[in-house]
Amino acid sequence: MTPIERFAELLRTHRRIVFFGGAGVSTESNIPDFRGKDGLYRQKTDLPWSPEEMLSHHFYAEHPVEFYTLYKEREGMMLRAQPNRAHYALAELERMGRLSAVVTQNIDGLHQKAGSRNVLELHGSVLRNICQKCGREYGMEDFLALCAPVPHCPKCGGVIKPDVVLYEESLDGFTIQCALDEISHADMLIIGGTSLVVYPAAGFINEFRGDALVLINRDPTPRDASCTLVFRESVGEVLEEGLRLLKAAR
Ligand code: ZN
Repeated sequence: MTPIERFAELLRTHRRIVFFGGAGVSTESNIPDFRGKDGLYRQKTDLPWSPEEMLSHHFYAEHPVEFYTLYKEREGMMLRAQPNRAHYALAELERMGRLSAVVTQNIDGLHQKAGSRNVLELHGSVLRNICQKCGREYGMEDFLALCAPVPHCPKCGGVIKPDVVLYEESLDGFTIQCALDEISHADMLIIGGTSLVVYPAAGFINEFRGDALVLINRDPTPRDASCTLVFRESVGEVLEEGLRLLKAAR
């Protein structure tokens, strides 16, 4: 049995699958990993701040014009992005009743765009933007239209902040609890597009109690040795082919 056939067999014999995804899932939709060498922020060599600093809470508070100018550029790119094979395969596995949740570190909303329902977004979502004064929520397009460059709430004049977790901010406790709950009850865990070195990914994986751990990542990770299966191919390619073989076997 080839590795991909084994993967399809694992999909067939498990009923409570959880997918844990990192930046590699979004790069396949042409959203650059901002930490990567080709990331959006690396191209801006004329700026005196590092990408991490520009996405920190203190930078948002102290340099709102620069923060929103850069943020709007990245958000506009996410608005134009389309789901890829990985997003569609996961949405179909959920509809088939095999996949119980997608836990993601991405903020682009592409899983929902592809049809996934139970998506736990550890770092928030660019689709939601919240007035810091009255709590009113704004969608992406309203938010972009209000950026001039700092967006103010038409109702109360408060600043509208993206519902994404910036550096120096803590993750949402309820989302973390839901994600840990899904992972600890899963019988199969598929990890895609993350090297598992960045918090909180590593700690989450420790909660897994099932018998099938599948890792799909271009580069080696510290967890490779403890996995049932490891793929070095693209996340979309592996998920799509696994799903195809699963359906052919039914
Ligand atoms: Zn308001």
